[in-house]
Amino acid sequence: MTEKIRVRYAPSPTGHLHIGNARTAIFNWIFARHNNGTFIIRIEDTDTARNVEGGEESQLDNLKWLGIDWDESPDKPNDQYGPYRQSERNAQGIYQKYIDELLEKGLAYKSYKSSEQLASEREAQMAAKQAPHYVYEYEGLSNEEREAKYAEFEAQGLKPVIRFRVPEEQIFEWNDIVKGPMKIAAKEVGGDWVIQKADGMPTYNFAVVVDDHLMEISHVLRGDDHVSNTPKQMMIYEALGWTIPTFGHMTLIINGETGKKLSKRDENVLQFVEQYRELGYLPQAMFNFIGLLGWSPKGEDEIFTAQEFIEMFDETRLSKSPAKFDQKKLQWINNQWMRRSLETVMPQLAEQLVQAGLLREGDYQGNSAFYNKMFEIAGVEGISYTKEIVELVRYPFFELHDLSEDDKALVEEPQNDQLIADFRNQLGSLADFSAGNIMDVIRGLQTEDIKGRALWNPLRLATTRETQGPNLPEILALMGKDWTLRNIDSL
Ligand code: GLU
Repeated sequence: MTEKIRVRYAPSPTGHLHIGNARTAIFNWIFARHNNGTFIIRIEDTDTARNVEGGEESQLDNLKWLGIDWDESPDKPNDQYGPYRQSERNAQGIYQKYIDELLEKGLAYKSYKSSEQLASEREAQMAAKQAPHYVYEYEGLSNEEREAKYAEFEAQGLKPVIRFRVPEEQIFEWNDIVKGPMKIAAKEVGGDWVIQKADGMPTYNFAVVVDDHLMEISHVLRGDDHVSNTPKQMMIYEALGWTIPTFGHMTLIINGETGKKLSKRDENVLQFVEQYRELGYLPQAMFNFIGLLGWSPKGEDEIFTAQEFIEMFDETRLSKSPAKFDQKKLQWINNQWMRRSLETVMPQLAEQLVQAGLLREGDYQGNSAFYNKMFEIAGVEGISYTKEIVELVRYPFFELHDLSEDDKALVEEPQNDQLIADFRNQLGSLADFSAGNIMDVIRGLQTEDIKGRALWNPLRLATTRETQGPNLPEILALMGKDWTLRNIDSL
């Protein structure tokens, strides 16, 4: 490609980062990086009713967590193209200029219909079995006559919206990077549509064109749900005499279990990057999983770094068929990543243990033997995400079960009571609380009568409240002397 590649991710700050949006961001980023292009973040916040406080921040924070960086954004403006929030662009009159141009050229007009009027027109169309469409109210009027109507409505105190006059007979065609040749007739868009609301805000389909043009966006890679918007956007490009960028609409994401479109209302499927982050999924694994939603490399391998995705990227391998959101696969990919990089799981596990109230911040910091033991005990081969480990190591490492009646009777038998007291004394005087020394103490307590389970069960119960578990001297050494003596003393 010889032209300068400029792509953007344009979130509306309406909530957390959804998997579908994360995919759009990831593919635009990969596309930009693969082609030495520029990756831009633009905030589409013109639908003020839907904006949520902190929405922009949370989106960007989650993108960063996934390992994505950007070249231009509200916080990294390039003066030639900024500002990067539509609300700020609107305040500067950027959209108004083009609204005025379209009004002047007679390609847009002021419309004063009330919502009741629109609803009753729609009802009449439905009754007549017609597809709902907007009915142009100034048909056959000259410019002067139309202006006179405006003045009449204004005198009644009505506020207009601005509608674009759709060229009904036109067919819009584009060659979609993902879907191939596409064709949508202007008739299908439902008639003249609003480009500016009564409050002066531009609508998405209008603002997006002005911004993509002024920001010199070369490729628009976005979700399948925007296909029906594309002809609307193309008619604006044409009306303003601008070059249309190359479009690519990434395939729908479907729920792997039901086969239906993944919907935010699907409560069984976690769909926000944040939710996986909270469970202790690794960012590399999330990126890896999302990078395979609607795109596949050559060959059978499925575990890739972001850098590998960038190198391998080939837009002809973007899939036309729906991408399955398969949580089992995500778990498998995360497990692969955990096993590859236990070092990166350690701080996550520490965080999870602190959150569960089991560790204080800073405890066992940098103690890889401790964390490796936790992984070993939890059996990292079978783990999908870090938070699962917490439950597997909760007992007896951070909390103790109560002894059952039988176990209580066992440790209280005089012979065992004495054994445990001796054990405590000898452990207490160990200068080096190593597994080897602990083993020596246990061996020293062994007699003809007290050996095997008769020896180990009381000692294990006294220190861990369990009769089974991993190698006892190793665990005691790992958890330390304070922990061990405290457990015995609280019997
Ligand atoms: N703000 C739009 C959205 O969040 C962007 C769509 C586009 O990329 O054109 O869906």
